[in-house]
This record gives sequence, C-alpha cells and structure tokens, in this order.
Amino acid sequence: MNIDYQHPRDQIAEIMDRIYRYGMTTTSGGNLSIRDEGGDIWITPGGTDKGVMRSSDVVRLREGVPVDTMLRPSSEHPFHRAVYEARPDVGAVLHAHSPALVAFSVAGKAPDTRVLPQAFDACGRVGFAPYAVPGSERLGRSIAEKFAEGCDVVVLENHGVVAAGATLLEAFQRFETLEFCARTILNAAVLGGARTLSAEMLALRRRGWKAIAESFDPKARGSRERELRKTLVDFVHRAYDRRLMTSTEGSFSARLGNDSFLVTPYGVDRRALDLGDLALVEGGRREIGSVPSRSASLHRLIYADHPETGAIVTAQSPYVTAFIVSGTALDSRTIPESYINLRDMPVVPYGAQFEDEGLISAAITARNPVVILESDAVLATGRTVLEAYDRLEVAEATANALLAARRLGEFRPIDDAAVAEIEAAFGVPPR
Ligand SMILES: [Zn+2]
Repeated sequence: MNIDYQHPRDQIAEIMDRIYRYGMTTTSGGNLSIRDEGGDIWITPGGTDKGVMRSSDVVRLREGVPVDTMLRPSSEHPFHRAVYEARPDVGAVLHAHSPALVAFSVAGKAPDTRVLPQAFDACGRVGFAPYAVPGSERLGRSIAEKFAEGCDVVVLENHGVVAAGATLLEAFQRFETLEFCARTILNAAVLGGARTLSAEMLALRRRGWKAIAESFDPKARGSRERELRKTLVDFVHRAYDRRLMTSTEGSFSARLGNDSFLVTPYGVDRRALDLGDLALVEGGRREIGSVPSRSASLHRLIYADHPETGAIVTAQSPYVTAFIVSGTALDSRTIPESYINLRDMPVVPYGAQFEDEGLISAAITARNPVVILESDAVLATGRTVLEAYDRLEVAEATANALLAARRLGEFRPIDDAAVAEIEAAFGVPPR
C-alpha cells in the first residue's frame, strides 16, 4: 500500500515498524514526525517500545502542545520543530541510530554518496552536525542550521542521523539509502576502499535513461499475466525483506510473450509494491498510465537477444555492492553451488546501461547468466523468476562469504581441475 495516502498516524507507525524490523534502530532510539497541512506536528511518543508502537500512540502537537492525549511526545521534539521552522518545504523528519551511520557518526564523518549513482541522487545533500546533548535547544539549533543550508540528511556527531523530506516516505528513502551507502563503504573498506564517481559519471545517469514514451491500452488481461504479476510482486517483497533491494533501488521483470514483459515501475517503494503497479511493456510501448523502470529498454533488448531468458533482476545487494564499488573481482569459485550458478560474472564498464545497452546484452551468454555493471549493480537472468532471484541470492551469499573469509586469512578458490570436474558434472557451457 502506498503510504503517502495514509493518515500521519498510520504512516508514522508503519515506517517506525519498518525501521525497527529491519534493524535500523534500537527499541528506544529513533523518532519520526509529520507536519500536516494545518501546521500540526504528529510525532512518535517518548519512552515507548519502538518494536510494538501503534498508530494510536502517535502524539499530535499544536503549537508545541499535545492535543487529546495522555502520552508525551518524543524528548527529541525540539529539533523536529527547529527543522520545520528552518525549512517550510519539509513535511517530515526522521531520526534514528542505524548501525552503519552510527559508525560514521562516532568516526566524525558523513558517508560520501558519490560511490553509488543511485545513492547520490536519492540522498540529496548530506551534512554533519556537531555534538550537543539530546533534547537540548542547542542540538536543535545545530541540526536546523544544517537543514537551513540546504542539507537533506544530516549525520549527528556521536549520536545518529536526521533525514527530512517533503513526505515521510521521501525522508525514509533518504535515510535508508544513506544507511545502505554507509554499510557499503564500511564493507568496501575491507576490500581496499570504495571508489567515488566523477561528476560526469554521475551526470550520465541523470541524462542517460531512456523513458518509454508510447503507450497502449492492454484491454483484456490473461491468467498468465495475472499469475506473473503475483510472482513478481512476491519476489520483490522477498528481495526487500532479505535486504537485497532497498525502497529506492532494484528492478525485476518477467517475460510474458515474444516481445512483451512485466516490469517493476520507476520510483515506487519496493516494499509497498502492488499488483497494479507493475508495468506491461509490449512491442516497445508501455501500458497506459504506467511508468516502467528506467531499465525497461535494457530488459527488452535482453529478451530479444536471449530467447531462453524468462526473467531479469537488477539489484544493489549489500555485499555484492561492496565488491562493485571497490572494483574488486567477485570470484565465484568459493563453493560448487556458487560456481554452478554464477560462473564468470563478466564486468560491463560503467555507462553501458545509459549509452550502450547492447554491450550488456552481449555479455550475457548461456555460460554467463549473471553480469556485473561496474560501479552500479548486479544483473541476473534466469529462465524463471525463481532462477533469476536465486542467482541474485547466491551472488550475495558468495560476496558475504568472501568478505568474511578475508578476516580468516587467504581465500583458497576451488582449483582448475575441480572446476573442470564441476563443469562436466553439471553441464556448464564452455567459454
Ligand atoms: Zn537520538
């Protein structure tokens, strides 16, 4: 369900639940607020268990005074109000102590979002505010100052993070993406460090995507399409729940016919994705009223070039992304299952997704169903939605194991003779 249509109380309860459930804050840490059209502020209550907070616990403040409630507002409400005063365009404020951003907070810096083009676009301007005691006017002033300068997210020294947005969903997406970016940088540090993209490379993403302009009215829908819609939505939710996708990143498509497929929409919260949000693309035209993912034209080309491909998923799963942003080769010769599923994982140079989609499609072969898009994402194909999804999961598990193995010493890949044996036993196509 699209949370933008919900009452402030319900939006706050749902986003708080998501932040807590996915390990992005502790039970006592974190508070959210929404400023409504009348200027009232709806805010999480103070001293409650964030794991079981209900929408009826949300406190409504009018001119800073609670209305119709025995509950008290979050003790951090002064800085929420300070941000609203500094920024008339802000409609929601989110504060949390998420693990990776707290690591940055105590190390005295903010993550550099130029490591990932999506994060650079989704997070906006990121600032860093000096320490002040929680709940104090001074903390409110130091945070509000940063937002007044035009920041969209601010890391608080020895504390946590504050994100703002026109809506609570926008504030959450900035926060979740920045936390993801922070975790990626931390993991990449083990691999030699994350590389930042130049201004030209970042600009390429903004102007490079091809939107599908022409639309059509699909009239009647078949049972196969209805079945595929359900399968895709279920797998996108699963990918989100397994943290393989964030609310702002990851696309999934499934072939319906010769030149028709269903694809996730652009800009829709992946966790709230519903059956009707998926876009049907047929003969290069999009279903009327739909906004297909910006990688839809790439998916169309892959389906045309590879008749055996039935599904495509593109994602920035956390551990794989650490390898991608540090430019470290992801070696699938860890365990037989990884090698059988992933094989060589060729790397396609950055920018191909915007300027030369044919390069990506050509990198996909019967031997190599998974490719790495440099400084961007992993793209996995399969005969079915399950097979493509499984390859994404295996890639992520492989990257996780490789990263952990570094702490134990040298990585010992499966040797050439054993690889040849696996290839023969499991019918892996030759190079
Ligand atoms: Zn706090």
